[in-house]
Amino acid sequence: MHQSWQSGCAEAARLLAGARKAVALTGAGVSVPSGIPDFRSPGGLWTRFDPMRVATARALKHDPEAVWEFMAAAMDLFGQARPNPAHLALAELERRGLLAGIVTQNIDGLHQAAGSRSVVEFHGSAERFSCLGCGQAQPRAAMPGLLARGVPPRCPGCGGVVRPDVVFFGEGIPMDAVLGSEELVAGADLALIVGTSGEVAPANAIPLRVVRAGGKVVEVNLGHTAYGNVSDVRLDAPAEEVLPRILELLPKSRGTGQGRAGGMALSSSEDLG
Ligand SMILES: [Zn+2]
Repeated sequence: MHQSWQSGCAEAARLLAGARKAVALTGAGVSVPSGIPDFRSPGGLWTRFDPMRVATARALKHDPEAVWEFMAAAMDLFGQARPNPAHLALAELERRGLLAGIVTQNIDGLHQAAGSRSVVEFHGSAERFSCLGCGQAQPRAAMPGLLARGVPPRCPGCGGVVRPDVVFFGEGIPMDAVLGSEELVAGADLALIVGTSGEVAPANAIPLRVVRAGGKVVEVNLGHTAYGNVSDVRLDAPAEEVLPRILELLPKSRGTGQGRAGGMALSSSEDLG
């Protein structure tokens, strides 16, 4: 572990341990170590596909074949990916009662695969599908069969085009995601930002709402971000290394006593503050 991260990790652990309600906001960066490049980065899906041709409501209506060519590539990428130590650490924080839940901009389902239960998928999920004609949900398991019959896949019930339940450009955030994130953020006094530079609205406003309510912000991000002015702790470091380290510094569970290592580490971190 890089020396300069140590004090930041200790301070992040101290804030998490002291928070009444902590929530996480995650983005593409958390899934990069799982082999899913940021769509917008070199090697990302947007270097292979033009998002305006394959990921808009208009494309879905006028060129569903192109949409599904892109979706097949995305599902292939996601299908091979497994949760990395950053996903696992976030799931463990929730298990220990130190994290109320996650609002994610990712559509890859890796938080749930890691064991996180309270996950608001702000941009939908590439694991869910529904018919544009009748609205019937189509299970993930049915998709290979439907795709084998033709592209775009068609609803067995009405013959309508089946779409992924992801938020395309020009589409609104699903109401259940908006309400779910509001519920999660209400009363939160700590925002843990992981792998998102804060460029995509409206998800980027979530930490600012915590700040306005008097809460703290812990940021784990590589490189420059839009949160520089609001972060109380900023770790410019790989999430898959830093989050497991923060976890080591925290109690094994909230309110039921601390593990020996956790207790020792916490008392040493308190010396810093
Ligand atoms: Zn249908």
